[in-house]
Amino acid sequence: MFFALVCLGMAAAVLALWMQAPNFDPLDRVALPLLSALLLGLQFALGRGWLSLHAAVSVTYAGASLYFLLALGHQFQVFAPQMHMLSESAYWFPVLYAIAFLLYPPRQARWLAGSTFLLTLLLCVYHLTLGPGAGDMQLAGAALQFLLVNAFMIILQSTFSKQRVQLLAAREAAYRDALTGLANRRAAEERLTAFAQTGERFTLVLFDLDHFKAVNDVHGHATGDLVLRGVAQAVQSLVPRGGVAARWGGEEFLLILPVMPGWQVREVLDTLRAELLGQRHGAVTGVTACFGVATARDGEHPDDVLGRADAAMYAVKRQGRNDVLLADARRTFYTQVVPAEQVVGRR
Ligand code: GH3
Ligand code: MG
Ligand code: MG
Repeated sequence: MFFALVCLGMAAAVLALWMQAPNFDPLDRVALPLLSALLLGLQFALGRGWLSLHAAVSVTYAGASLYFLLALGHQFQVFAPQMHMLSESAYWFPVLYAIAFLLYPPRQARWLAGSTFLLTLLLCVYHLTLGPGAGDMQLAGAALQFLLVNAFMIILQSTFSKQRVQLLAAREAAYRDALTGLANRRAAEERLTAFAQTGERFTLVLFDLDHFKAVNDVHGHATGDLVLRGVAQAVQSLVPRGGVAARWGGEEFLLILPVMPGWQVREVLDTLRAELLGQRHGAVTGVTACFGVATARDGEHPDDVLGRADAAMYAVKRQGRNDVLLADARRTFYTQVVPAEQVVGRR
């Protein structure tokens, strides 16, 4: 994406210089090659991993703002007083303001756009009162329009950016489980649908807490909620980048992981099971679960993978709980049957 910006910026710089040849504008002759070099340098640093995309775009934004401010001051010396109007470079300020509100949170964007606007205002006032454009009413009218359009643009963007933030927050809430903070079922389903479209393979772990109803019955619903939050906490730190940990429903959770061989899944689930066993929520300790694991086969629909993980999980339930079963495997990992009374029920 940044590479496209680099190509576009450099093409614009070359075009601008080509159109001016052979009478180059003294500012453009220096500033445009410098800006192009800056873009190339940023692309290089980005490629090397020295910079984040946001940092590269921010530096580009700062460079472009500086150039357009210099160009505004410069045109009051060489262009505006003769033509009684502002040149095309002034068109770019509304674009700068719009980009500020896209790049940064509303408050920061308002500050940035506001200070850039103030600088343009000071430049206009200075040049229209003390510079070569002093007393030029036609130029003053053009500058006034320029400033009014920009002020209007900032107010408009500021209003929209607040709405955008609210919209993003609402969207985030729609995909998050309120109790645990994990992704909710809708988010997980959308991820699975995306896999169905791309054909990408993945590993699913579906797990259901053992005898959880007894936790509620014996220790109360609030303690049950604490247990669910604890499980979410344990799960969140285990999911690798690009994976999803979701609350699939009630006391059932789904992990969508990159394709993992059985031994690696076992390692991850060993850590999770140990963590769950060690947690204490009020009087509840020793939380266990049944885990069903399935890895997508080539071309397999995610619903079918989920079906296999679900069947594996229920096979563990039937076998005595607190274990892991890879779909299609004949044996569970641990084959240690834990009676309900041992899992919960301690007052
Ligand atoms: P099994 O080992 O066979 O899975 O038994 P279980 O008791 O875990 O399963 P069951 O389906 O009988 O009970 C699930 C319980 O989970 C019942 C329901 O009240 C409880 N539950 C579902 N959502 C929540 C929740 O958000 N908070 C609390 N505290 N409990 C919940
Ligand atoms: Mg259960
Ligand atoms: Mg259940």
